Amino acid sequence: MDTVIIGAGPGGYTAAIRASELGEQVTLIEKNKVGGTCLNIGCIPSKALINAGHRFAAMASDEQLGMTQGGKKNLDYTKTQQWKQSIVDKLVGGVQDLIKEHQVDLRYGNADFLDLHHLRLVSGTKTTILAFKRAVIATGSRPRPLADFPFEKRVIDSTSALSLPKIPEHLLVDGGGYIGTELASAYADLGAKVTIIQHSKRLLSKFDESLVKVVTANLQRKGVEIITEAPIKKVENTKTAVTVTYEKNGEQQIINGDYLLVTVGRLPNTEDLGLENLGLNLTKQNKIIINDQCQTNREHIFAIGDVTPGIMLEHRATNQARVLGAILAGKETHVNYKALPEIVYSDPEMAVTGLSKKAAIEAGYHAATAQFPFGANGRALTLNVTTGFLRLIFDDKTNQIIGAQIVGPNASELIAELTTVIENELTLDDVANTIHAHPTLAETIVDAAEVGLDLPINI
Ligand code: FAD
Repeated sequence: MDTVIIGAGPGGYTAAIRASELGEQVTLIEKNKVGGTCLNIGCIPSKALINAGHRFAAMASDEQLGMTQGGKKNLDYTKTQQWKQSIVDKLVGGVQDLIKEHQVDLRYGNADFLDLHHLRLVSGTKTTILAFKRAVIATGSRPRPLADFPFEKRVIDSTSALSLPKIPEHLLVDGGGYIGTELASAYADLGAKVTIIQHSKRLLSKFDESLVKVVTANLQRKGVEIITEAPIKKVENTKTAVTVTYEKNGEQQIINGDYLLVTVGRLPNTEDLGLENLGLNLTKQNKIIINDQCQTNREHIFAIGDVTPGIMLEHRATNQARVLGAILAGKETHVNYKALPEIVYSDPEMAVTGLSKKAAIEAGYHAATAQFPFGANGRALTLNVTTGFLRLIFDDKTNQIIGAQIVGPNASELIAELTTVIENELTLDDVANTIHAHPTLAETIVDAAEVGLDLPINI
């Protein structure tokens, strides 16, 4: 066998398909389901639940538009779960078909390395030893548990949280990163009482405070209680409930809930892979160190996706995979992260790309910002979602746009245009001179650019 890829998540299956399109025969090994974390237990099912939550919450909230409804809102959560699963099954089936169409040799089983050119594939009771010339590690990541409180009974990870049998009365969430914030928001919309208990000072601490403020305020409006700087000290975990003791201002506090959802980060799946037999360089967090061609310190071994240093996101994995697929087929190319969008599917959504102002200054730019509020945008008003703003970060000597930050309606879609702008080193003038249709949320991009040029029309 020439090339073997371990893990058929977004990283692994994308690399396999691209390499195959470019004429390279690859073997892809998966121990569970193709589509990996993202399709089965991550991006897709979580966004389905978030959408279900938005729609359920909206059923009663349009009194301003003159719409009221008598009686009680009903939610058949079993049906919601079935709908969510049908989307997952459709996408996973689609990926299976694509793998087949591209004649990728897909094998199911658990793989680990025996030495630099052999791996063991265990499938049920059958063990096979496979020889390879090149290998790609794309084994992804898993939820990190709290140090002393494993995932069991009512202490759950994101995977279990996506498939709860019914809406909890009271969901406790430990961790205010994007996964915790998204699931807290979804369950609050679906009718649960939600309390976030977190160690750090604020939610989403890696994002700019001005954006997070908008999201935090809206979560609180939904009734989500947010307890910050409150490390968890004790968890009493039974089959039916959980009691959590946390410390706040030096005092121990107790809170009860149906579940404690722990979202305090994810660990790379680099154990049990026999990496010690390869002598790969790893970070302290056990991630596999690679160069910009996704190559490890062993030149015939590559790694992509969540097992490599950097932010754990599907589109980073698939971008690396596209690049690696080409490299495997003999092309000269490399990854570049000039504009890597990051999205939080909060309410309203948050999205950033390129550099923050601080990072831009550190990188030597004469960084300035210009922003435009959604409250002054016609389309946002017609959608009745007017909170938030769109901000451009640009170099005020050249007017080159080097970063963007959005909190507001459809931020997840708007960020795509700005990622293209940054990737292609466009300027405020380029954006302002591009005709944007009316009425659209994307007009805020032109408006923010005009603010940056000191030629605002709409504000
Ligand atoms: P994975 O998708 O984890 O796939 C790895 C595959 O390798 C798995 O199928 C696994 O079974 C297989 N495998 C592991 N070990 C072995 C072995 N020894 N032998 C054979 N097979 C093996 N990212 C976004 O960009 N946007 C989002 O909105 C988003 N939302 C998320 C929501 C949640 C709740 C979670 C948990 C994650 C979310 N992510 C999101 C992150 C995204 O899912 C990951 O970044 C992405 O799946 C990484 O792809 P990957 O191919 O590196 O790994």
